[in-house]
Amino acid sequence: MAQAQSTEADWVSRFADEVIAEGERRAPGKPIVVASGLSPSGPIHLGNLREVMTPHLVADEIRRRGHECVHVLSWDDYDRYRKVPAGVDASWAEHIGKPLTAVPAPPGSPYGSWAEHFKAAMIEALDELGIEYRGISQTEQYTSGAYREQILHAMKHRGDIDAILDQYRTKAKPGAKKQQKPLDEAELEAAEGSGAAAEDDGSAGGAGYFPYKPYCTVCNKDLTTVTSYDDETTELAYTCTCGHAETVLLKEFDHGKLVWKVDWPMRWAYEGVIFEPSGVDHSSPGSSFQVGGQIVGPIFGGEQPIGPMYAFVGISGMAKMSSSKGGVPTPGDALQIMEAPLLRWLYARRRPNQSFKVAFDQEIQRLYDEWDKLDAKVADGTVLPADAAAYSRATRTAAGELPRTPRPLPYRTLASVVDITGGHEAQTLRILSELDPDNPVTSLEETRPRLERAEHWINTQVPAESRTIVRDEPDTEHLARLGEQDRESLRLLLEGLDEHWSLDGLTTLVYGVPKVLAGLEPHAKPTPELKAAQRAFFALLYQLLVGRDTGPRLPTLLLAVGADRVRKLLGA
Ligand SMILES: [Zn+2]
Repeated sequence: MAQAQSTEADWVSRFADEVIAEGERRAPGKPIVVASGLSPSGPIHLGNLREVMTPHLVADEIRRRGHECVHVLSWDDYDRYRKVPAGVDASWAEHIGKPLTAVPAPPGSPYGSWAEHFKAAMIEALDELGIEYRGISQTEQYTSGAYREQILHAMKHRGDIDAILDQYRTKAKPGAKKQQKPLDEAELEAAEGSGAAAEDDGSAGGAGYFPYKPYCTVCNKDLTTVTSYDDETTELAYTCTCGHAETVLLKEFDHGKLVWKVDWPMRWAYEGVIFEPSGVDHSSPGSSFQVGGQIVGPIFGGEQPIGPMYAFVGISGMAKMSSSKGGVPTPGDALQIMEAPLLRWLYARRRPNQSFKVAFDQEIQRLYDEWDKLDAKVADGTVLPADAAAYSRATRTAAGELPRTPRPLPYRTLASVVDITGGHEAQTLRILSELDPDNPVTSLEETRPRLERAEHWINTQVPAESRTIVRDEPDTEHLARLGEQDRESLRLLLEGLDEHWSLDGLTTLVYGVPKVLAGLEPHAKPTPELKAAQRAFFALLYQLLVGRDTGPRLPTLLLAVGADRVRKLLGA
């Protein structure tokens, strides 16, 4: 029982067991290495965050248990630039074929290259998420000659590599169609960012198979063909579509890279990676993960990592954003509308093979309700073990607690309040301080950063027609048409306002007025008739206050509108 921890027996814990055992078998006494790879070929999407979150959570669990663990994040920034995304000047097409670090950043960026520009946004998000990693630039690795020995070795054994790759090539013969679900557009977008689209195996040209491709020293593109290679001297000759042709000594040449299907297993061996998950696009038969598993041992003397497949992460209802982002949100976009622990929780509570959606629509309010309920269960000790594990992984890492909002008021309440006040600070504070008069909010600081997240959500994700606009003047025409029953209900409401001026009080009041009118006790069980009367009463209030049939929850709305204005609009 001494070992009992809240983090036992969830998927993260089970992988940690497996990885620690493998680490002890493969490299006893050495730090355990887990890995992720990201290609900064464009905005790095929320779907790609799973590439980092999965090993992060496992690494964090390993560290919590007191083991040393390194999370290597490989920036595949020496990959070729493949296409110009929507929203970027078409003239960028002239850079197709160059390494991502050699392509200028999109117009207006303060960064020195395409890769740096897109890495920067991800690095910022990873910091906010509390993810500790060792970033490795593949441009730096390749151009510094770090892999020289591995490259020469792969070239020497190119025949063996070709033979392994060939088994998969013949399997994929035309006619033997793979019965795979086609990827939808979002999935293709995500695959684009993960290196899958670059699954070049370096297939043979006229001079045989070469697992290495030089970037041309004149045009800096990979539109090159190796025409000969001498194992003894390492003399490599290549031609380029730009017209350039040269012979270099590969043992001195640091201007090219291994093809992806050879590059990946080389790095497993080089770093000693024990755990590296991959997306479904990498895990199908004949995929780079499977083929890499055949190459890593015989060629590089390493072992394939434990590599679970992770499912795609979808998005629900994101409003149209700037076209330069192609409408697919990044972790940074999500962190503008939700706090880091909530985003971590979404990834921690689902096994990697379960897909899920990150809510940008109204669903985020329900999600936050669920999160607050979990928080309360943790506080009062009624939480279930698996939920406690996910909560713990969301709110802290081995390094400590993530920042949280000191006074986490319900997200939907904050959203309603900023919806009505338009973010006006004094007004917002006035309303928030009246929610619970016994324990009033005394400064907006207590409610941040959750308040800002709710405000950003209202401003960027809620369509104009769903925003709440409180009437300036009473709807005198409507008021004049009201029957006796409705007038009486408004009178009862206004009469009780002062006495019930808190979130709880007003909740009792708005539900209670129809009960009083029906001659029922305040705590009477609701009947279908009463429920209908309550709905009609609420619709009347919405009409008179905001000119629509629905709106934010009424107690919040009444507090936000303020007692004087409520009296004015309801005709007293
Ligand atoms: Zn060239």
